[in-house]
Amino acid sequence: MRKLATGCVTLAIVMGLAAQEPVSAWGLDVHRWITQRALEGLPAGLKPFFLERSAFIVEHAVDPDLWRVVGLKSDRGDEDPNHFLDIDGLDEPRPFTNVPRDWDRYVAKYGLERANKMGRLPWRVEEVYGRLVTTFRDAAKGQGYAGDNAAYLSAVLAHYIEDAHVPFHAVLNYDGQATNQRGIHSRFESQLVLRNRATLKLARVTIQPIPDVKAFVFQRLVEGEALVQSILDADLAAAKGREFYDDVYFATFLKGARPVVERRLAEAASGVASVITAAWTEAGQPPMPTGKLTPPARIRR
Ligand SMILES: [Zn+2]
Repeated sequence: MRKLATGCVTLAIVMGLAAQEPVSAWGLDVHRWITQRALEGLPAGLKPFFLERSAFIVEHAVDPDLWRVVGLKSDRGDEDPNHFLDIDGLDEPRPFTNVPRDWDRYVAKYGLERANKMGRLPWRVEEVYGRLVTTFRDAAKGQGYAGDNAAYLSAVLAHYIEDAHVPFHAVLNYDGQATNQRGIHSRFESQLVLRNRATLKLARVTIQPIPDVKAFVFQRLVEGEALVQSILDADLAAAKGREFYDDVYFATFLKGARPVVERRLAEAASGVASVITAAWTEAGQPPMPTGKLTPPARIRR
């Protein structure tokens, strides 16, 4: 589901809904799963710090989806467009090198309304990544709360990086609405994954250098757009002659979509680990605090 009515729903109701039905990219449980894998694949200088905080980070990796549900706004407006870039909706030829990578030039070329409608994911990643670099530097200076902030920003950044790996976050036909395949968004990124989690074979997490995080996100979106047709084809073949999206449908869908879903889940986990590592490296690879809290000082009598 991309657009959600916000109205006057309370957070309690929203949380209930979220538990029943994942609201967007990868589904909430899949976000948690990818994030946990990413943290376990971090390099030695970061891994102890992040594993100590993994429960917190994994839980908060879904927060940006909850922000869109409750209608929180960021500096550039609604939260919703921060989660995608429909790169095929800009009337540019593949591989979309004509889409400006600079936000001001992007807005100048397509107008603010269209720019926001098509999405802002690469620039949102750039923004959160910049904050994380600053926070790693603060942690190195021993500033209070910097470690907690780094953990939280890493959770948020993980979410957006994971979204960038969902092919349907890169296209106008994000839910099969243009090809009479409604619901494909959730069938692919959530139901297919959760039904087959035990048998999906994911390549182990690897760390790649990321000199330009925005360019990295654009690259993943362009790749994602190119993968969409194969997923739509697999869905069509699986649904042929069937009345319901039942076990037989999902078994057939898996046969067609397995290579794509395994590849993108693995790339998402490696992408998250690589981007967090890149931010830490840009901050000078400060030593991160680990270990149990300092025992309380003795009170002199
Ligand atoms: Zn999202």
